[in-house]
Amino acid sequence: MHIGLVGCGKKKLNYTAPARELYQGELFKKAAAYCDRNYDGWYILSAKHGLVHPDTVLEPYDATLNDMNQSEVDLWAQEVASSLNGGTYYIHAGKQYQHLKNYLADYNIPVPTVGIGKKLQWYKEQEKPQFYCVLSNRDFLKVKKDGHETKVPIWRFIDGQENWLTSLVYIKPGAWQTDPVPGHRFLDCGAWSYKNDEVPKWSVDECIEMYNQYANMGDIITSPDHLVMRNHDATIENERIALSLSNAHKFIKKHTKQFVPIAVTHGNDIDKRIAMTKQLLDMGYRYIAIGGVAGRAGNRKFVQEVIERTCNLREHGYFKIHVLGISALSWLPVYEEYGVNSYDGSSMFFSAFTGASYYWLDPNHISGITKYSVKDLNAEDIPICHCPACVTMRKQGDDTRTMGSNERNMGRAVHNINVYLQAKKSGIKPKPRQVSLFDEGVSYGINNSQT
Ligand SMILES: [Zn+2]
Repeated sequence: MHIGLVGCGKKKLNYTAPARELYQGELFKKAAAYCDRNYDGWYILSAKHGLVHPDTVLEPYDATLNDMNQSEVDLWAQEVASSLNGGTYYIHAGKQYQHLKNYLADYNIPVPTVGIGKKLQWYKEQEKPQFYCVLSNRDFLKVKKDGHETKVPIWRFIDGQENWLTSLVYIKPGAWQTDPVPGHRFLDCGAWSYKNDEVPKWSVDECIEMYNQYANMGDIITSPDHLVMRNHDATIENERIALSLSNAHKFIKKHTKQFVPIAVTHGNDIDKRIAMTKQLLDMGYRYIAIGGVAGRAGNRKFVQEVIERTCNLREHGYFKIHVLGISALSWLPVYEEYGVNSYDGSSMFFSAFTGASYYWLDPNHISGITKYSVKDLNAEDIPICHCPACVTMRKQGDDTRTMGSNERNMGRAVHNINVYLQAKKSGIKPKPRQVSLFDEGVSYGINNSQT
């Protein structure tokens, strides 16, 4: 169980009310709303009453841990911890309240610790669709230093990215742990890699074992799913949906509770897909990934209908939604409109390698980004960049604006990620389009790391 713990606030109603309504501070309200949506349950950490269920009716009171001395705080923390039993706890509370962590086996402090402005900003950011940057089989740049060459992970060259998606196919034993990617991770099974096989590459038990080895607390882990391709007939479609569902059923029962399980929906027929989603929700999934759409981003009508109808199921209870493999900024307005929680994409890699494209910020372009072809243009005709990847590569004689080596391509891929993040951050709102040949997935072939 994932349980949120929200610190009580000073500002309260002046009459008796359920705890969830009693506290009136903005920070409390944001934290409570966040915990409601993201965890299996939540409690209030009250200086006076200890652990309080949000529905408990309380009279207004005046007490804060900030007025207590350290041994009183310690006693308070021990008492609160004794009423908690073995979940994974997410502390959304100030410094004094965080003392509680000393008595918890599994805890997380997801919110910045200092500054009310920073905390409010964090909640505001979480309400937006979260981008998961994809890490594939090559996740480092070779950097020459003092005659030696070292492999530096690409996340060292990317600023302000906290969420990463990778696949069990790409995790080499050890690498993920010896130099762990910072932040929050999403691990999938790499369904694309075994799309032509009868069954998924790994059994449910094998997946669980690998997640136990590689995932951190709070990371998202995917039930082993099987892709339905566009050319599959109804028989294969039904078989694969049934297989994904039966795996999902085992997976949610057996997965390690400190991770967040997600199941992927598939299907060429949208009715079947929605029926599949309902079954997954009945099994207890609270995070659903829309899969098998990466190669169809150009078929806007299909993808948008899948998103819309999946989101409509929230009428019966909130759950989170991830779109696998579509990250073009032209989709952001759609994600925001329907309240899609997260998405990922690796088109920056495909652009850099297969497309030989170098991204550049362009507020006038429909996608917020202009793509320069390094194949057709001279380096002088392409703007020079000072992002950490371009600077590092240039120093060792690899200009990311030129073709010619794997290193330059890789440097350009990281550069493209930086430009993408910049375009996303700059708040460029490209207009949603009708079907276009320039949608990702169409122009660069099908995304091979996604389901
Ligand atoms: Zn750059």
